[in-house]
Amino acid sequence: MKTITSIRELQSTLQSEKLKGKTIGFVPTMGYLHEGHLSLLQKARTENDIVVLSIFVNPLQFGPNEDFDSYPRDYQHDENLAKDNSVDFIFYPTKEEMYPNELTASVVVHKRINVLCGRKREGHFDGVATVVTKLFNIVMPHRAYFGMKDAQQVAVIEGLIKDLNMPITIVPCETVRENDGLAKSSRNVYLSEKERDEAPTIYQSLQMAKSEILEGETSPLTIIHSITEHITKFTSGTIDYVEIYSYPELKLIEKLRGRIVVAVAVKFSKARLIDNITLTIPE
Ligand code: AMP
Repeated sequence: MKTITSIRELQSTLQSEKLKGKTIGFVPTMGYLHEGHLSLLQKARTENDIVVLSIFVNPLQFGPNEDFDSYPRDYQHDENLAKDNSVDFIFYPTKEEMYPNELTASVVVHKRINVLCGRKREGHFDGVATVVTKLFNIVMPHRAYFGMKDAQQVAVIEGLIKDLNMPITIVPCETVRENDGLAKSSRNVYLSEKERDEAPTIYQSLQMAKSEILEGETSPLTIIHSITEHITKFTSGTIDYVEIYSYPELKLIEKLRGRIVVAVAVKFSKARLIDNITLTIPE
């Protein structure tokens, strides 16, 4: 395994691998790796000759009052895990390497953003789409792996590569959870002990919603109401949103049918947690 910090060096290294006919699988992350990230790396390992992991906390996708400075970072820990998971190259650029000057051009996302995290985090998905486009142009992978924990991110990136004709296959991967159902997240370390005990309620409420839907409930409002009630009753967190949309279009629906996403964001004292489920309901 080799760590590369220079864009030019990574490009020439990967170019010579491609000339040998090797396929490239790419896993972009912000580091502080956990089993959720590792599941993406493992999937990439089984489907490609070369696995590239990027670790870059992208300032462009953080708002002024968000946690860019305090976002957890531990390169040594990440490098050890990457080695254990047979990563070939870690791309670990500095902010200056990625953004050496004020941007002349960037990516603006038009659809799938005025809901869920996009509504709450203005400019976030423009920042994500811009860095993902840069990373795709640098790595030029055959496949790129993203977690469905960030379902809106997957929807936006699928739209991005389709609209801008990027020849890359996006591979969405299932959310990895703790034994009690809490979705693994780098931000879970910010939970107090009490909040950590309460946090599995989020996934429980989604599972309850799933049962209600599978038993025939077709009203999004009824489901939103029961999730809200459950989270309010069993956690000290504040609900940021509970929303249901068609997936991946992220359009409002009056009746639950077809492919949908049920998504939740809850603010605890130092961490905002998100989770979701996607379901396909027969017409
Ligand atoms: P991040 O470092 O938070 O930007 O995440 C990098 C990638 O890992 C994104 O595609 C995430 O959706 C994915 N990811 C984060 N947490 C999980 C999880 N619990 N299960 C599966 N994928 C995840």
